[in-house]
Amino acid sequence: MQLLYQGKAKQILATQDPHTIIVRFTDTVTAGNGKKRATIPGKGALAAHISMRLFELLSTQNIPTHYIRQLDQQSFLAHKVQIIPLEVVVRHYATGSITKRLGIPKGRAFQPPLVEFFYKSDELGDPPLCEAHIYALGLATPHELAQIVSLAQRAAALLSDYVAQRDLKLVDMKFEFGRTAAGALLLADEISPDTMRLWDARTDESLDKDVFREDKGDLLRAYQEVARRLNLTLPLSYLTRSLSASGEGQGEVEGTGEVGTGEVGL
Ligand code: ADP
Ligand code: MG
Repeated sequence: MQLLYQGKAKQILATQDPHTIIVRFTDTVTAGNGKKRATIPGKGALAAHISMRLFELLSTQNIPTHYIRQLDQQSFLAHKVQIIPLEVVVRHYATGSITKRLGIPKGRAFQPPLVEFFYKSDELGDPPLCEAHIYALGLATPHELAQIVSLAQRAAALLSDYVAQRDLKLVDMKFEFGRTAAGALLLADEISPDTMRLWDARTDESLDKDVFREDKGDLLRAYQEVARRLNLTLPLSYLTRSLSASGEGQGEVEGTGEVGTGEVGL
């Protein structure tokens, strides 16, 4: 199958149908705009399954998403879109870059949730954008941006309620949107602990990519815990300790540069 795009964590593959693509989750995890990177066997399948469950949830609540159906343990079929290079971040609690940028203490609640925009550009380090920048760059029209913000707010509220029933606190998340050839606006990319911050509701322990960003322990275990709390049906091998023969802790760390503040991600 033809590789259309090799990203930092996923591959986009062509299908026979020009309007659909395959989103394939790899076992690569990166942080700090790719500066820190590792391969963690099983991580791709866990992120794929979590993402599929959350897209299904949003679809049932009339949020238009690119997700069509599961293909294998690491892949799903999706509607092909032209991605709008905008990272839409919804924050329920302060953590990560915003605490440094604006001097807000970690854990402060945002009520209503805060919606922020970043320019999806690896070269520029994903800089923050305000509404005027979005129009100046021609990324979206005011009508589209209003739709994007409303969808992001609804999706964030639905996801937050859903995980709260499973003893998880949805701290923040990053959404990407795209347009189909027919002109429909869809929530695309992924919704997984690579793109959200999830904390244990009682202990505030991180169960997301911060475990890797901040060297806080075993990333695979954290994702397995999320999968368990969401009651996901994965082959047992993905839910047990480690899939790699030599796999200790963070897998094979290929480079450990400073984690820049640039990563929007979140
Ligand atoms: P990146 O390094 O750019 O973040 P990822 O590893 O996340 O890449 O790979 C997924 C890429 O595919 C992203 O650039 C994302 O914007 C894009 N993408 C996500 N969903 C779709 C879709 N339905 N159609 C086309 N491209 C998509
Ligand atoms: Mg990405």
